[in-house]
Amino acid sequence: MNDILPDVSGTWRYLETIVREVIESYGYREIRLPLVEYTELFRRSIGDVTDIVEKEMYTFEDRNGESLTLRPEATASMVRAGITNGLFHNQRQKLWTAGAMFRYEKPQKGRYRQFHQFDVEAMGYAGPDVDAELIIMCVRMWQRLGLERLNLEINSLGSPDSRARYRDELVSYFSAVKSKLDEDSMRRLGKNPLRILDSKNPDLQRLIADAPVMLEFLDEESSRHFAGLKTLLDAAGVPYVVNPRLVRGLDYYNLTVFEWLTDALGSQGAICAGGRYDGLVEKLGGRPLPAIGWAMGIERLVGLYQACGGEPRPGRSEVYIVAVGDAAIGRSFELAESLRDALPAVHVELNLGGGSFKSQLKRADSSGAALAIILGEEEVARGEAGLKPLRSEEDQINVPLDDLAGTVGRHLLTLEGTL
Ligand code: ATP
Ligand code: MG
Repeated sequence: MNDILPDVSGTWRYLETIVREVIESYGYREIRLPLVEYTELFRRSIGDVTDIVEKEMYTFEDRNGESLTLRPEATASMVRAGITNGLFHNQRQKLWTAGAMFRYEKPQKGRYRQFHQFDVEAMGYAGPDVDAELIIMCVRMWQRLGLERLNLEINSLGSPDSRARYRDELVSYFSAVKSKLDEDSMRRLGKNPLRILDSKNPDLQRLIADAPVMLEFLDEESSRHFAGLKTLLDAAGVPYVVNPRLVRGLDYYNLTVFEWLTDALGSQGAICAGGRYDGLVEKLGGRPLPAIGWAMGIERLVGLYQACGGEPRPGRSEVYIVAVGDAAIGRSFELAESLRDALPAVHVELNLGGGSFKSQLKRADSSGAALAIILGEEEVARGEAGLKPLRSEEDQINVPLDDLAGTVGRHLLTLEGTL
């Protein structure tokens, strides 16, 4: 579980702002959900025989003996919230949320026990059009953020019927090579053989590669849905690879599943993943409602942004006020407040703790500010302040205090491109 330090929190904020803007530009509305749910919710939705439920949940009893779990993902909570708040009564919903998720994993680069996701879900939409739109939305995000080296993989898990036929086929395939399976896979063979395809065990990859593929078992309607998605992606010029082994780590998916992968981050290359879960709303007690969504890991997004040479966006002061002498210090408070009134988005840092001009200017420099405003006895007597650009060769100028906010605003605007 990481501390996100001030040096990178500015970059996080920048990425989050753009992701949020793009999501909302497609008509999705924010929902904020609790961090804790009844354990039962995740067991029923994600599935008993999954990595998450078998070994990754932070589960505890509260004082009342209820079993609670820190959310490992957001979809289950989203559906629960929609049902308990009546959001699905004859309505379609496009929702998004973001925040911390918790999984007891083996920590490594790009894989943490508290991590953060954006989560986007469309409920009440059955056709492949929304599947395509959710993917196209990601393309727009990658473009806005200048991200490269992202590849899209898609697959179809078919309808429950076609999946059942495929399941039988998988069981006979893996049963014939039982002695080569590991303990996890043996258990899954009985309960949920599709999960074996999701195994991370390197020794099993050959076996998995030779297993029968779901796509050959799709019924007509599932095939039509998948073809519809591909046609829309082709029309939008979005390249993809069909990966018939893509099953996703949660049980509730059907039809479309997809992942955005990068080769820029080593082995934790999944940035964003999602799929359709048409049966989940009903399974959790609502009326049947088709649904699809994706989740994106923010740590991995930050990592990819850095790997693509994205500029750091430190949250730093932009204006630093230097004041020497009692009268100037007295005036500097008023001045700082009036600048914050006039330029609410600008970070104004007032020198605290006194010091000579020289030492205050040194602090101004290390604060990262673009401009220093200098107030000494003389400036105060003349009703002026010195304005000193700190990141260019430009000379210091004197500005009447009345004009200061306007001049600072104009200076920051012209500097914006170079900051
Ligand atoms: P994996 O197969 O890598 O374990 P997953 O299928 O468990 O991934 P999802 O549940 O689909 O992952 O989560 C969606 C996204 O959240 C992932 O694509 C990834 O970017 C991110 N993510 C998942 N688990 C972690 C983690 N422990 N630390 C950081 N990011 C994570
Ligand atoms: Mg996982």
